[in-house]
Amino acid sequence: MILEANKIYHSYTQGKNKLEILKGVDFFISGGETLSIMGKSGSGKSTLLNLLAGLMKPDEGEVRVDQEDFSALSDSQRTKVRGEKLGVVFQQFHLLPHLSALENVNFAARVNNISNSMQKSERLLQRVGLKDRAYHLPHELSGGEMQRVAVARALVTNPKVILADEPSGSLDEKNSQEVVDLIFDLVRENNTSLIFVTHDEDLAKRCDRCLTLDGGVLHEAASTN
Ligand code: ADP
Ligand code: MG
Repeated sequence: MILEANKIYHSYTQGKNKLEILKGVDFFISGGETLSIMGKSGSGKSTLLNLLAGLMKPDEGEVRVDQEDFSALSDSQRTKVRGEKLGVVFQQFHLLPHLSALENVNFAARVNNISNSMQKSERLLQRVGLKDRAYHLPHELSGGEMQRVAVARALVTNPKVILADEPSGSLDEKNSQEVVDLIFDLVRENNTSLIFVTHDEDLAKRCDRCLTLDGGVLHEAASTN
């Protein structure tokens, strides 16, 4: 098991109200496996992904990355483990605005002490089809190009798992298709596990296993094959 969660609970406090979003989520993903998480808007998909990525801590329960309990680690240790083992792709790209495409990828590599970082960053940028956009700033790129930079950035550390939160959610259909194809091709080439949050059933079905988040817990989606 590369990444697993046991009985995680998470709530947000909004004024006097407590919004219970996750109510005992159990989850695991194995090495090289691709897995989709579907669910209605507001069901807690992003909350779950952020908890699995160690970007937030659950109220209760544990998240284990490669057997290591995330919640037992300090913030800096968690950042280190995330940097080494996980790669995250967000719907809104989250590129650093003052760095070029190449520098965005290389920055992630350098922060995580990857050797020959520039060479690896250049090679990945070429792999995602952006060799001739290397020196563009994010605002000089299209949405699809920005997301391809974000995909290269997530992979440059050679992570065990990519966590993608509706990675094509803000792209038009053509770019969406290209980015999703690229993600699937790259995780298969590198034998990286993939957690793919989407509300597109056709995209979800491209994964080995499909889960649905509903009522604060995860369900195995009925197999349609
Ligand atoms: P999804 O990604 O499935 O659309 P989210 O995980 O983003 O769902 O959000 C789940 C619910 O929690 C939503 O109802 C949202 O409004 C609420 N929520 C998310 N983040 C916060 C926050 N920081 N404070 C309060 N409520 C939040
Ligand atoms: Mg979301």
